[in-house]
Amino acid sequence: MTAYAYDGTWAEQRPAVVLHPTTTEQVSAALRIADRERIPIVPRGSATGLAGGSVPLEGSICLNLARMNRILSISAPDSIVMTQPGVITATLQKAVEAQGLFYPPDPASLNMCTIGGNVSTNAGGPRCLKYGVTGDYVLGLEVALPGGKVMRTGGRTIKNVSGYNLTQLIVGSEGTLGVVTEMTLQLIPKPIAQTTALASFTRLPDACEAVGKILSSGITPLVTEIMDHDVMRAIDSLIRSRGQTPTFSLEAEALLLVAVDGDTNAVEHDIEVIAEVLRLSGATDVQRARTNEEAEALWEIRRSVSPAIIRLGNSRFGEDIVVPRGRIPQMVALVKQIAKKYDLTIAVFGHIGDGNLHPNIVCDRRDAEMMKRVEAASHAIFDAAIELGGAISGEHGIGLLKTGYVPKSVDPVALEMMRQVKKLFDPNNIMNPGKKIGVRDAVTW
Ligand SMILES: Cc1cc2nc3c(=O)[nH]c(=O)nc-3n(C[C@H](O)[C@H](O)[C@H](O)COP(=O)(O)OP(=O)(O)OC[C@H]3O[C@@H](n4cnc5c(N)ncnc54)[C@H](O)[C@@H]3O)c2cc1C
Repeated sequence: MTAYAYDGTWAEQRPAVVLHPTTTEQVSAALRIADRERIPIVPRGSATGLAGGSVPLEGSICLNLARMNRILSISAPDSIVMTQPGVITATLQKAVEAQGLFYPPDPASLNMCTIGGNVSTNAGGPRCLKYGVTGDYVLGLEVALPGGKVMRTGGRTIKNVSGYNLTQLIVGSEGTLGVVTEMTLQLIPKPIAQTTALASFTRLPDACEAVGKILSSGITPLVTEIMDHDVMRAIDSLIRSRGQTPTFSLEAEALLLVAVDGDTNAVEHDIEVIAEVLRLSGATDVQRARTNEEAEALWEIRRSVSPAIIRLGNSRFGEDIVVPRGRIPQMVALVKQIAKKYDLTIAVFGHIGDGNLHPNIVCDRRDAEMMKRVEAASHAIFDAAIELGGAISGEHGIGLLKTGYVPKSVDPVALEMMRQVKKLFDPNNIMNPGKKIGVRDAVTW
């Protein structure tokens, strides 16, 4: 029970029981019994979630979907893959790439998280700037519903307007409407080439504004990832602790990792144009990867962000706000002002081209006074994002941690409709109750 009490957050609660289904029939049976007995049921993929979505509730069933881990079929003519939910995202990507196909969504957790978890959170990732998020690839679903019925939505076609789009209603619903037991995902041809560059800026605002200028140049990069000076300090310390020397200088204030993909000639052309835009935007250094090894080394800088930030303090509180792309420079400036106001270090990185930032508040959980400031700063960040026309979560989800903020972030009429939808799917409120839109009233347990 202890092993199933966590996800990627600090939230913790042991379930009453853990079930390990391997078939849709078993999931359906569990939902039938849970509904009859009014027992809350919490679906779980790999529990890498960063919002407490798969953290069990007291007295609940943890429904571990990790053993439903078969890729059912890959069809090159239809460009689709059919899969069970427990397949690890990277495993699915490798399997389709072996057939010359490509599944683009790439959450940074892809070596650990499940495809079912990705669909249920509508996961994003660096490549989503060019290729979109998980939901853009979901064509059809099999969903086991409270009470045990099994619903099929969508199908194998790219276009389909028969009835309401229940597929996209389930996408991102964080296990609050039903359990995704099978998925049909769209694939695209695998791009032939990819190349990467890392730009250093002496001014953080210049790095933020460079992204808009790249997009105005007519090129949609595969990736634009920002790292501010606090993140750079953390990565510098991590790299040096391994006895290596970083390829960037701490004299810079921000790094921007940019990648492009496509055919070989296009990639060469695009990265040259982008490098020029970066220089004109104030980049003092643009390192361009000439080999796969050099590209790997640049990517390693971005991949080390999460493990590195912990070096800045005892712990960290990661956020996931999103704002309209044009408001990014303002949002980053506001985060830095909030850090100053609450006397905290807030390291900023994220998928800047999507307007999606992950301000990470460095903290010490043993310091109660500091944690009060962390909470206040985190609320100030949410307020700033909403004020700028953005939202409190771009990709990590609402889960348990952010439900209190949903009424501030969602139109009241829309929220009322969402509550009606929840009641329709789950009249006894057994499906991950209290998560996502915070409806916890219909059942006692
Ligand atoms: C280091 C790190 C990096 C990360 N990077 C990213 C990133 O770049 N982009 C991003 O979007 N996220 C990222 N995440 C967050 C997380 O990996 C994603 O939210 C991921 O989609 C969760 O998948 P999971 O299998 O771990 O799901 P879980 O954490 O187990 O579950 C997530 C939610 O989905 C529900 N759920 C899971 N499976 C099902 C199912 N089959 N049916 C119904 N509901 C289900 C759960 O109840 C829960 O509400 C990162 C996390 C970590 C730790």
